Amino acid sequence: MAMTLGEKVAHLKGLSEGLGLDENETHGRLISAIIAVLEEAASTVKSLENRVDELTEQLDSVDEDLDGLEEYVYEELSGEDWDIDDEENEVEVQCPACGETFSVDEEILDEGEMHCPACNELLEFEVSCDCGHNDNEE
Ligand SMILES: [Zn+2]
Repeated sequence: MAMTLGEKVAHLKGLSEGLGLDENETHGRLISAIIAVLEEAASTVKSLENRVDELTEQLDSVDEDLDGLEEYVYEELSGEDWDIDDEENEVEVQCPACGETFSVDEEILDEGEMHCPACNELLEFEVSCDCGHNDNEE
């Protein structure tokens, strides 16, 4: 396994110490300053790597949650409940003048009247109560 950046910097530091560089001499000062910068860079890289690992783990878990949510939503939308719900708002009406049968939205029925789309006859509807009971056609 390859050495990490931190290990390489530690190795360089060990080498420079082995040379017995004088910190009061220009080359010694320069080298120890370079190594200090390398140590800081290595530590920054290390914490960034840890953060990336953390974020990758979180992203994986979000990805899994999203898969579950997608499955749930698609099942709900393609299920029978969806179709029935859609049809509930439409009522089949037959025009007494021309016999044409067509679907009318409940909201239009609530308004009480509309024109037949086939013959333009004015059709009047009995406005039923909000509870939906409309068994008795008087
Ligand atoms: Zn008609």
